[in-house]
Amino acid sequence: MKKEIHKRIEVVQGDITKLDVDAIVNAANTSLLGGGGVDGCIHRAAGRELLTECRAVGGCPTGEARITKAYNLPARHVIHTVGPVYSGKPRDSTLLSSCYLNSLQLVVENNITSVAFPAISCGVYGYPIKDACKIAVDTVAEFLKKNPSIKKVIFILFSSGDYDIYTDYLEELV
Ligand code: ADP
Repeated sequence: MKKEIHKRIEVVQGDITKLDVDAIVNAANTSLLGGGGVDGCIHRAAGRELLTECRAVGGCPTGEARITKAYNLPARHVIHTVGPVYSGKPRDSTLLSSCYLNSLQLVVENNITSVAFPAISCGVYGYPIKDACKIAVDTVAEFLKKNPSIKKVIFILFSSGDYDIYTDYLEELV
């Protein structure tokens, strides 16, 4: 029998900018002024107003998170978090876990019930996907147990290889 947690965590393959959820999480950089990868996709789809709001927010340190509106996106909010650039040091995992925790804290504070995460730090920032997947899923699962107000967390992966890694790891979670 599947554990209760499996009903609240979903893994999908696709483009995060297309998701109709309360909030999507952006793998941003410390400037919050846009960049490549998922950050670029989100800013392009949300429109210029997102950049204007991000400019007013004034940046975000690595491991922390900030919330904005989502403008032209189907989602209602964008939570911008800054993942670590992978270095191979123990601090990487602490910072990556903090990204998920601080994003989820904003989810709770803003009465958000559904949120989607990309694979933070797994693109340009070079975090090995298997290690990052374990940190992401473990951190989220632990947080969900303590926070019943969150109904759904979606992990959205661009590639089928990344999707398989997440699906396999979630299957192991008992
Ligand atoms: P980082 O700088 O944190 O490494 P990237 O944007 O380079 O962030 O990559 C993070 C992950 O997001 C990568 O696995 C990449 O394949 C994925 N990605 C890129 N665009 C999208 C998108 N539109 N929707 C979902 N995931 C995406």
